Amino acid sequence: MVNKIIIANWKMHKSDKEAAELSKSVSDRANDMGVDVVLCPSSVSLKSVSENVKGKVKVGAQDIFYEDEGAFTGEISAVMIKDFAEYCMIGHSERRQYFNETDENVNKKIKKALEHGLIPIVCVGETLEEKDSGKSKEVVERMLKKGLEGIDITKVIVAYEPVWGLSTSGTGQVITTESIVDIHTDIKKFLKKEFDTETSLCYGGSVNPKNAQEILSLECVDGALVGGASLKVESFIEIVKITDSI
Ligand code: PEP
Repeated sequence: MVNKIIIANWKMHKSDKEAAELSKSVSDRANDMGVDVVLCPSSVSLKSVSENVKGKVKVGAQDIFYEDEGAFTGEISAVMIKDFAEYCMIGHSERRQYFNETDENVNKKIKKALEHGLIPIVCVGETLEEKDSGKSKEVVERMLKKGLEGIDITKVIVAYEPVWGLSTSGTGQVITTESIVDIHTDIKKFLKKEFDTETSLCYGGSVNPKNAQEILSLECVDGALVGGASLKVESFIEIVKITDSI
C-alpha cells in the first residue's frame, strides 16, 4: 500500500529561525512514521528547512515561476529551488485570488516543475460564490483540464481545496465527509476519463487533529494539505500520527 501524504503549507508565516526550529521538531518526530510528510515554508527558508529534515520528511516550495531565469523581478525558478526542495505547490487558491494566477500559467509552471524533477502539488477548488451558484464541478473540472493539459498526471499530486472551506477564508463553512467523497469521486472519474490514468488526490481545507481521522480514513483521500494546523508542532504531529495509525 502507498503511504498517505501530509503536506504543510506554512504560507507567509515563520521567520527563518522559526521555520528551522519547527522543521527540526517535526522531522525529529515524524521522519520514521509510515506517512510521507512535506513541509512548504516560504522560499527564504527552503535552505534552512532542507538542512533540518530527514527520512520521510521532505521539503516543498509554495510556488515557482514558469521560466528558468530572466527579467522577472521577485520571482523564483525551479532551477533555484531544486537544490532544496523535492515538491512544489502550484495554483494555490491564494495565488489565483491575489496574484492573478491563471490556468494557463498553472500549466506552464507544472511543466517547468516536472522538467526539473520536482513533484508538483496542483491545487484546485471553487470559491463560495461558485459553490453557491452550483458551479463547483464545472470550475474544478476546468482547472484540471486546462491546468493539466499535456501533462503525465501520474507525476503530479492533485489537492482539492474548496476555497470556502479553508480555515482562513472566514466563511465559517465546514465541508462534510459526504461532500468530500462526492467531489473526490467525481475528480477521480474525470481524471480517468480525460487522461486515462490516475493520480494521488489530497484534500485541503481546515484539516485539524479533530477531523483528521474521519477525513484521512476515506479511501478516496490520499493525503491532506494542511494550513493553519501545520503552524504548531503539536497539532501537525497529531495529524501525522493519526494518519500513520489508519
Ligand atoms: C490551505 O490554504 O492550503 C489550507 C489547507 O489551509 P487550512 O488548513 O488553514 O484551511
